[in-house]
Amino acid sequence: MLLPDFNSEREKEKYFRSLNDEQKIDALNEMISDTEHIAFLGGAGVSTESGIPDFRSKDGLYHRKDKKFGRYKPEYLLSYDCLDNRPSVFFDYFRNNLDCRKIKPNDAHKKLAEMEKAGKLDGVITQNIDGLHQKAGSRKVWEIHGSALRSYCVSCHTEYGEDFIFENKEDVPHCPACGKMVRPDVTLYGEFLPQRAYEEAVALIRYSDLLIIGGTSLEVGSAAQLAHMYHGKYMVIINKGKTKMEGKADLVFHDSIGKVMNMIEI
Ligand SMILES: [Zn+2]
Repeated sequence: MLLPDFNSEREKEKYFRSLNDEQKIDALNEMISDTEHIAFLGGAGVSTESGIPDFRSKDGLYHRKDKKFGRYKPEYLLSYDCLDNRPSVFFDYFRNNLDCRKIKPNDAHKKLAEMEKAGKLDGVITQNIDGLHQKAGSRKVWEIHGSALRSYCVSCHTEYGEDFIFENKEDVPHCPACGKMVRPDVTLYGEFLPQRAYEEAVALIRYSDLLIIGGTSLEVGSAAQLAHMYHGKYMVIINKGKTKMEGKADLVFHDSIGKVMNMIEI
């Protein structure tokens, strides 16, 4: 199948809406060979297939009843307010729920790394903090919510590796260099996104002519904002559930991200 030239948005929409599942995969592959600058924007759903719980889904962290932390809202436990006022509670929760050091990348991560290597992907923008894209081999990754595998001292800004917080025996880990607190390099509720990563993500989105969005419902926050900034040639959404911007997308797959990505041929 070769994608036709479309005379209008309406014609383009009609064409893509008429495709069956198999034709949609062919169309996705056509888009990939037809475009020069491809970006991937991913949310929690990319990691759930590696076994990392989503924050808001039914079985996600947000709904998990935990005796020890039951009196706090999960949003509070991952907030700057908690880190600042109840640091021992914050680190206890963080160590118990966000240790992703042993988690392995899945087919979606692997395919994206393969695409980058083949020169078919300009970069991955992710809301996930698990470092799985890098583990799969991706180099061009913009982590707009930071990474749980990095930490830094709040005072002297010395950076520490992925084991520092998780292996540290203190309730609140302290910097060996200056004695102040070492915190994870993740964006907490109540904090601004890392400005440089976000600005570079915006540039990547604006430069792309194919944007593949995966594993996010695009309901809130930064992923939705970024998706709205995209004005390139094709947009593809892969998500198990419904998403907000399906009207703007050319192709929508309500399916496992790993399964769909696996059918990409490069
Ligand atoms: Zn320090």
